[in-house]
Amino acid sequence: MPDVIEQIDSLLAAARAELAAAAGEPHVEAARVKYLGKSGSLSSLRKGMGAVPPADRPKLGKLVTDAIAQLEALLEQTRTALGQRALQQDLEREKLDVTLPGRTRRRGHRHPVSRALDDIIEIFARLGFHVADGPEIEWDLYNFEKLGLPRDHPARDMQDTFYLETRLPPPPGSPPTRGAQEQLLLRTHTSPVQARTMLGQPPPVRIIAPGKVYRVDSDVTHTPMFHQVECLHVEKGLSMAHLRGTLDAFAKAFFGPEIKTRLRPSYFPFTEPSAEVDVSHALCGGKGCKICKGTGWLEVLGSGMVNPDVLSGVGYDPEQITGYAFGVGIDRLAMLRHGIDDLRLLFENDVRFLEQL
Ligand SMILES: [Zn+2]
Repeated sequence: MPDVIEQIDSLLAAARAELAAAAGEPHVEAARVKYLGKSGSLSSLRKGMGAVPPADRPKLGKLVTDAIAQLEALLEQTRTALGQRALQQDLEREKLDVTLPGRTRRRGHRHPVSRALDDIIEIFARLGFHVADGPEIEWDLYNFEKLGLPRDHPARDMQDTFYLETRLPPPPGSPPTRGAQEQLLLRTHTSPVQARTMLGQPPPVRIIAPGKVYRVDSDVTHTPMFHQVECLHVEKGLSMAHLRGTLDAFAKAFFGPEIKTRLRPSYFPFTEPSAEVDVSHALCGGKGCKICKGTGWLEVLGSGMVNPDVLSGVGYDPEQITGYAFGVGIDRLAMLRHGIDDLRLLFENDVRFLEQL
């Protein structure tokens, strides 16, 4: 008997030590099998009961049962403790420091040229104009010929043109050329949209044509690609007064209600008479400053009454209808609005620059 009691005690002590060192559920399970499994140590003791004198059996049986109960309780405790430890570790690992500064997301915004264009379209929509579109790769016929600029016209020299090679036959009515290279080009202005629109519909016409145009040119106020918007209004009974009124309404809506406009006589090939349009300089209040070169005025666009030759060239009767037109550089408008002095800054797309606008 004392032997058996000693044996039980040492088994329990060994089990306690093992469970105390257990690092996880596999260790606990191994200990359970070792001591309580079918061929485990305590189970063997119970099987060995037959060798014990009958008088001692109840006492021994109770000792073994108690030992099993103790061991089961110990296993349960160990499992609970291990579970809590694992939970604690998870919580530590996933702990959030709510005092850390958040990650800010960089916000983008519309390019100043896009914003200027959106404003222009909106202003003209209110004045009853709609947006017309045309190709950037254009035939000489629409870019020059139909606008009163035949091949020998000196005003063609005012525009340095990018020509493209083509094997396509030019449209009927195209001017004769020295070589195939001089029929297809990158449009030098948005005016071909005027020609295309008028050729495609009877008057009245009331359009604006915004888009990219190309010229062989690059310095602080010129880039090889720039944005232009062309305005054309053709109808019965239009005069310079309508041109003036439309320009004035546009300038006030775009730059501010205090803005004044003035017209200066000028020359453009497809308008007659033609006028250069200035707006009063908002930044200096028209008093004169460095940006406006002391004049108080900024030159913004070219305008005029559509040349009768252009009207008859698209099949309209210049005796019956008249029209006015003007073209303006969108980039230039954006520059004036933001006080930028180098046009190229708008196209280098340096975010550090664009973010200031
Ligand atoms: Zn000024």
